[in-house]
Amino acid sequence: MKTIGILGGGQLGRMLALAGFPLDLRFRFMDPAADAPVDLISWRIVADYTDENALVRITEMADAITYEFENVPVAAARFLAARVPVFPPPAALEAAQDRFVEKSFLQSLGIPTPPFAEVSSRDDLERAVTAIGLPAVLKTRRMGYDGKGQVVLRTLADLDAAWSAIGMAPAILEGFVDFDRELAVLAVRGRDGHIVIYPLVWNTHRAGILRISIAPAPLISPALQAMAEGYMRRVLTELDYVGMLAIELFQVGDGLLANEMAPRVHNSGHWTIEGAETSQFENHLRAVVGLPLGAAHARGHSAMLNLIGGAPASEAVLAVPGAHLHLYGKSPRPGRKIGHITLRADDPTALATGLDALRPLVDASAEG
Ligand code: AMP
Repeated sequence: MKTIGILGGGQLGRMLALAGFPLDLRFRFMDPAADAPVDLISWRIVADYTDENALVRITEMADAITYEFENVPVAAARFLAARVPVFPPPAALEAAQDRFVEKSFLQSLGIPTPPFAEVSSRDDLERAVTAIGLPAVLKTRRMGYDGKGQVVLRTLADLDAAWSAIGMAPAILEGFVDFDRELAVLAVRGRDGHIVIYPLVWNTHRAGILRISIAPAPLISPALQAMAEGYMRRVLTELDYVGMLAIELFQVGDGLLANEMAPRVHNSGHWTIEGAETSQFENHLRAVVGLPLGAAHARGHSAMLNLIGGAPASEAVLAVPGAHLHLYGKSPRPGRKIGHITLRADDPTALATGLDALRPLVDASAEG
């Protein structure tokens, strides 16, 4: 029996624990929130990530430490790593937390990204717009997720409002990509360097929040899958990574641009619980404790629908053949992810039929 310490106590942590119990793993969480989705299933240290006494306490209880929240301070991860194995490596957190560092890192590995420029002042913004052109997206360098901390600029008249909308915080300006669709590649790397890659996922966002993933993504040529896998391998190898990593991509024609990476299990991998040979949660834990990794191929066809701000009646969801419901124990609030549904089917036609039944239910209950 091993104990894993997890920084962050949200639904990702909860799904990690649910995947880990059958492997005889135990969990200790740390999260500053008053209540957290893991509280129903595990014991938690309620403390800030900068609280060194609390960090020491979790190292004393854990054989290895991981995170389900990518904005854990890098200093905290390094403090922990000096005492107990921490996976993914703190360098991966560092690369992913700051959008300018992240895109520069991806480019340094020869992975294409949207054009971008650093913006630290109103003058920089002007220069960046001249260099990149409009439309463009202004994003804060740090603490942005689910479309938070970002504004689209369409005309020069938008500059002032955009600059104040992001709080004049250090930012990057990105060219607005007229993508064909959004894809994500997810993979796991073991302590021995072995890599297992999941099939590409097709993601649809609304208001900056992921709404639906389809997996495997339809109409993916072997060349496109190979391109995504090549980018993924470069990142994993460069960081000497251990655990699950997600890279979100824009597909433009036959090419891919990397938008961002997440050094953790990811929302666009939730389908793997029912839809893949081994779930992302189980594979992350296998990597962290040094167990052999599981295969990542899809079992049939899956769709994952996020429940945002509200959930349909369980009876209605579960009446749809192939639908599986995951509620996170969170109180509903507009824009908040409170659960998801995975629909699994043996063929694309059955998947489409199930989606036609589920989509109206999910849309009617969503808020935000
Ligand atoms: P992000 O927080 O960077 O993942 O952005 C959230 C969503 O905003 C993405 O999933 C896209 O739908 C959209 N988005 C972000 N950056 C761009 C961009 N450079 N061009 C077009 N759409 C974007």
